[in-house]
Formats: sequence, structure tokens, C-alpha cells
Amino acid sequence: MRIGVPRALSFFRFHPAWAAFFDRLGLELVVSPPTNRATLEAGLPYAVAESCLPIKLFYGHVRALVGQVDYVLAPSIRRLAPGSTNCARLIGLPDLLQATMPDLPPLIAPDIDLSQGLSALISLLLEAGAPFTLNPLTLREAVMAARDAYQAARQAMMEGRLTPAGFDRPGGDGPLWPADGIPVAVVGHPYNLYDPFINHQLLNRLARLGVNALTPERLGPQPGDDYWAFEYELVGATRRALERGVKGLIAVVAFGCGPDAVLVDELQQMSRERGVPLMVLVLDEHGGEAGLVTRLEAFVDMLHWRSAKWKSF
Ligand code: SF4
Repeated sequence: MRIGVPRALSFFRFHPAWAAFFDRLGLELVVSPPTNRATLEAGLPYAVAESCLPIKLFYGHVRALVGQVDYVLAPSIRRLAPGSTNCARLIGLPDLLQATMPDLPPLIAPDIDLSQGLSALISLLLEAGAPFTLNPLTLREAVMAARDAYQAARQAMMEGRLTPAGFDRPGGDGPLWPADGIPVAVVGHPYNLYDPFINHQLLNRLARLGVNALTPERLGPQPGDDYWAFEYELVGATRRALERGVKGLIAVVAFGCGPDAVLVDELQQMSRERGVPLMVLVLDEHGGEAGLVTRLEAFVDMLHWRSAKWKSF
């Protein structure tokens, strides 16, 4: 039995857990190939024009799996923390897929709601495994393996040993961050930060420019106070980064994303209060690489100039 995993959206957060879970159930996981222009073009006919780029890419990744697998994993991500919620596109993802793609294989579409703690996580895994085994011992072992793999991956990311882009490669990604580089907080949803296609190789470019990019995953889980699930984490991570003395903030947001618009407002306020420069990068399918590179280089030059200036006082 082959389970298809779109390399998009929740892949960049939960893939280690799903991989361990389905592996314990004896199922084969097939991850769609890394994103490229063809992925985007395959997804566009299924998305309404107002959809954000991450959703269009998710559709494209699903198209790469249709005909290759027996099931497609498409969770509905509801909440990542108590008191927060997710955008309607993420919550309704399985329903949107079923409404737009008549040739889909059956979906595995558990509701992810981490606000209820570990018991809810276990219930959703049991629900996801139920079509494949009802043996309670096997299911329990698979759930424990998923939990351990998830925690190990989060720990590895905090230690800078892994990026979610390397989740399905043996050994993962090696260190990307120049530890003696200028520290800059780079905040955004994991699927916007870690898919090199969507952001034109942003993290690699920053590393080459001598930036020690502190992403929310490197900073570790931080409580925020936002209504929107990812933004709850991102605001908390930005506060932690400012406490650690970062010299700049980069917000990576998707065009047309309501929660990201709220995030930008909050980051602008934090930037003003702490006197730390902020750059906002907006991702959409029309964005050019050359413009992004010029802006990044100018921003990083300015940060180096400011650092040198303050040192000379
Ligand atoms: S949170 Fe924003 S970027 Fe993510 S799926 Fe929703 S609208 Fe798109």
C-alpha cells in the first residue's frame, strides 16, 4: 500500500511524525518531488485565482501523486496552540481538494488540533491508522514512534542540524547557518521558509551573504499571543530573537494571506519599538528572482553598516 505525501504545507512541520507512523504500520510513503515550475503549473487549474501561492503549490504536489499512490495524505490543520485558529484554506484543505479533483485517490485527512494536547494528537493518529490496522498494540507503537520522531526533528532543528527541506533525505540537511554571521530573525510559515522554490533559495542566499538566519524552528517553541495559529508562534519567536539581540528582521509572507497581513503589522510595531530594521518579502507566483536578490543584498549591507557604526562608538 502506497501513501502519497504532498511536499507542501504541513509536510514542512509534521513529516517526520507521519513517516515514522506509516513506516510502523508497514506502509510505503511516496513524497512528491521537490517543487519546480511544473508543480506550480499543474496546480494552477485547480485553484481559484485568489488562492495564495502555498495552496496552489499544494495542488500541484497532489497532481504529482495522482495515479502513483493508493491514498493521499491531506490533513486539515485546525489549531497549533490553545486559543488560536488557522486560516480557512488550511482547515478546509481536504474538502477543497475533493471538490476540485474528481480523479483523486482516497484521502487520509485527519483534523490536526494541537490545542487539546497530546491526547488529541494520539486520537488523530489512531484515526489516521484505523483504515490499515485495528491492532491496538501496532497502533500504539506507531503513535509512540511518530511522537518520538517529531520531537527528535524539532530538537535537531533547534540545534541547527536539520531543516524541514531535508526531512526525507537520509541524514537530512547539513548545517546551513554561518554561526559567526550577522544574526537576523527570518520569520514565516515553515512552507514559505523551507521550500527553496517558493522563496528563490532565500536561506541559501542569506547564508552566502554571511547571515546567521534565526528561523522560528531554530529558536524553539515560543508562546505568542496571536489569534492565528502560525502567527502565534511567529510573534513569540520574533520576541525571543529580539531578546537574543538580532540585528534585523525579515518577514516572509504570502501575497493574499490574511493572517500574514496581521503578522506584518505586529512585526512593524516590534521593529519600531526595538529599533531593529525590518524587511518584508511578499511571495507570489509572479515574483522575480533578480528583484529579491537586489533587495536582500541591500538589506544585509545596511545591517553590516549599522553594526560597524555602533561598534565604532
Ligand atoms: S495561512 Fe496564509 S499562506 Fe497559509 S494557507 Fe492560509 S492564506 Fe495561505
